Amino acid sequence: MDVKGNTQICLSPVRESEERTQIAAPLPMYLIMVRGGMTGTMLRLGGEPTSLGRSGENTYQFHDATVSRRHAVLSYDSDGRAWLTDVGSSNGTFVDGKKLAPNKPTRVEEGSRIQLGAALVLKYVSLDPCDERFQREMFERAVRDNLTGLYNRAYFLEQIGPLCDRNVQRDLGLAILMVDIDRFKQINDEHGHDAGDTVLREVARVLRESTRLEDLVARYGGEEFVFALPVASLEQAVERAERVRIHLAQRAMHANGKQLHVTVSIGLSCSLSGWPRSISGLISAADEALYEAKLNGRNRVVPAFKPPLASLRRTESADAMAVC
Ligand code: GH3
Ligand code: MG
Ligand code: MG
Repeated sequence: MDVKGNTQICLSPVRESEERTQIAAPLPMYLIMVRGGMTGTMLRLGGEPTSLGRSGENTYQFHDATVSRRHAVLSYDSDGRAWLTDVGSSNGTFVDGKKLAPNKPTRVEEGSRIQLGAALVLKYVSLDPCDERFQREMFERAVRDNLTGLYNRAYFLEQIGPLCDRNVQRDLGLAILMVDIDRFKQINDEHGHDAGDTVLREVARVLRESTRLEDLVARYGGEEFVFALPVASLEQAVERAERVRIHLAQRAMHANGKQLHVTVSIGLSCSLSGWPRSISGLISAADEALYEAKLNGRNRVVPAFKPPLASLRRTESADAMAVC
């Protein structure tokens, strides 16, 4: 059998003599999200009680309106067996389809499906290092853009609600930066599609270098990228956006043996007072500001100073994705 790359790590055979003397250590347990939220997310469990719920005080937080702020707790008895307790949730906790009575611990077995509220389902499983690695790689493939290695749009939209919640807890606003490469089609036309791809990778690298731990950056589509940053003021958001723009304009890129320079236009919106409060409203406002940046000559940052009416209307409607 031809074994290549990472797969090999799974195949270290235990010699017979070792096999007899080895004491199997218990494998780490995980909750894997199998429905609702970001499917494939792995939550590692330690030996400590693990609280599950919608608020930030829990060990694991779920951004699902039907999950209660404090929903359930997973704990272990002295034999290491797992028990799940619903701690008075509004929409119930279910193990393998059976609803738990409040405050009454129920046994959870390997492979059990735990449902919190109406839609979120987690599977309780043990994973050896090989399975864990495989699962992680599958997840990474689902959430990352192939070409640039940045997060993809779906993951960005999934994560932005939790980021927004964390900012509110820290008394910060959320800035959205829509970043679009200027006249990118010209690069493809003049230097070829492969050179265009190289430039996209280079731009992504610069954007990654410009992020801080708490920021979120993704390829939004084509030659457009999106940033979400915690900020304390509009000025701070503009300053960060300017830094990204300048950083990119100054970077010499190399493609097809040639040196290229690119610039970007950035539309910016911010969840501080007077701005749209829904994520979809913030994204539309940043998008409209980006359009203005293009009209005004490109290679510039344009903040959407006034919340555009269209975005406000969208904010009020039921399709708002999340509220900051
Ligand atoms: P503007 O300054 O107005 O943004 O002009 P632009 O040329 O950047 O924008 P336009 O929308 O006219 O062209 C974007 C181009 O990006 C067209 C499309 O072929 C190219 N593109 C989108 N995705 C990729 C990709 O993955 N690789 C390459 N090489 N090109 C891509
Ligand atoms: Mg463009
Ligand atoms: Mg574009």
